[in-house]
Amino acid sequence: MNADPIVVGGGIGGLTVALALARRGVGVTVVEQRTVLTEPGAGIQLSPNASRVLMDLGLGSAVGRRAVEPEQLTVHAMGSGRQLAAMPLGRAMRNRHGAPYWVVLRSDLHTVLLDAARSTPHIRLRIGRKAVDIHEGPLGAAVSVTGDRGQETLDTPLVIGADGLWSRVRETIAPAIPEFRGYIAWRATLPITDVPTELRGKQSRLWLGRDAHVVHYPVAGGRELNVVAIIASKTTIDGNAKPGDPAELKRRMRGCDSNLRKLIEAVPRWLLWPLHDLPPLPRWSHGNAVLIGDAAHPVLPFLAQGGALAIEDAAILAQLVVPEPGEMAVTSSTLATFEDIRKARAARVQNEARRNGSIYHMRWPLALARNVAMKRLGAEGFLARYDWLYGWTPQ
Ligand SMILES: Cc1cc2nc3c(=O)[nH]c(=O)nc-3n(C[C@H](O)[C@H](O)[C@H](O)COP(=O)(O)OP(=O)(O)OC[C@H]3O[C@@H](n4cnc5c(N)ncnc54)[C@H](O)[C@@H]3O)c2cc1C
Repeated sequence: MNADPIVVGGGIGGLTVALALARRGVGVTVVEQRTVLTEPGAGIQLSPNASRVLMDLGLGSAVGRRAVEPEQLTVHAMGSGRQLAAMPLGRAMRNRHGAPYWVVLRSDLHTVLLDAARSTPHIRLRIGRKAVDIHEGPLGAAVSVTGDRGQETLDTPLVIGADGLWSRVRETIAPAIPEFRGYIAWRATLPITDVPTELRGKQSRLWLGRDAHVVHYPVAGGRELNVVAIIASKTTIDGNAKPGDPAELKRRMRGCDSNLRKLIEAVPRWLLWPLHDLPPLPRWSHGNAVLIGDAAHPVLPFLAQGGALAIEDAAILAQLVVPEPGEMAVTSSTLATFEDIRKARAARVQNEARRNGSIYHMRWPLALARNVAMKRLGAEGFLARYDWLYGWTPQ
């Protein structure tokens, strides 16, 4: 009989919680439905609150080798290209928060997490296995999984639902259907040699326009650029990673700054993501099952924090359910404590992300007031504004 905790989902949160539990001397099984675990064509920003946890897990040099640490984030008006504000990253972030602000290809991050999981004897990976049901069992809970080798039931003292936005585990804890928030993300990566020279360099850029914004930053050690264009849309699309028509985005960006336009025109292939989140759930745990990451609190990407929150959840949950090395303590009060510690922060991040969406897409004259306020904030003001977010530590 399996007495390990079972993590449903081998994404960012799932692999991080498995590594955090294993580090505390506990065996853990990860059930992941996909067989190909890397996500092509997308990057992720890892702010110090997340990079700190990865460093604590001993992954600092493996991620750092593949990531870029941009020197700053500059904010521009999409039409004129005028710089509205700048926030120092790089050394300023390390000095302020003691951890780096990385930008990295998701496939690189996933490779690091997966390699670490594969080389950890305490972790058993069940790849290509889909969790179809979660119910009570002799050890507290049980997960029914299907795959090539048919269906089986795994007994466990704890199910950790790290199965993302469309979580199956959430259906047994607090059923809720993610809500489309009126944005479509167009995502792409392209070789840095195809990027207009003016937009190269160790820097992230954010372009703000009417009903649209664009973010781009270098990834893959600077050899590629990750670009995300977020466009307001009344209608959604079915599923993730559907190809977008480059001609449509070019038309949408016709009136933009010439460098940004050249960048958009240089992208041969876009993948589309409709953006969803959820109002706060009434609970994240029930019986011997608990949710982390997007399964518990999906976040719009306008603060670049969904993955970071999943990583934070992983660190806290592992500390609570394994208070002493090798000793599991799964009680309803442990899981309630986890919710107490995490809920307010997750809700704040969700709200701030939604708010950023409205601010980024403002129309004239509100956009004018926004631009003035951003300019006034200055570099130090920008940094201080996010201390509550990036200064988080798992202690
Ligand atoms: C455009 C965009 C940009 C973003 N940028 C950033 C950023 O810069 N920084 C940041 O921190 N976040 C960012 N995010 C958010 C981030 O991608 C998510 O918050 C993060 O991936 C959530 O991690 P997770 O582990 O909870 O879920 P996921 O990464 O979605 O992983 C869930 C895993 O569970 C598996 N699974 C699902 N159901 C089952 C099942 N029944 N059985 C077995 N396995 C299952 C899936 O296959 C998947 O591997 C962005 C999101 C978008 C859309």
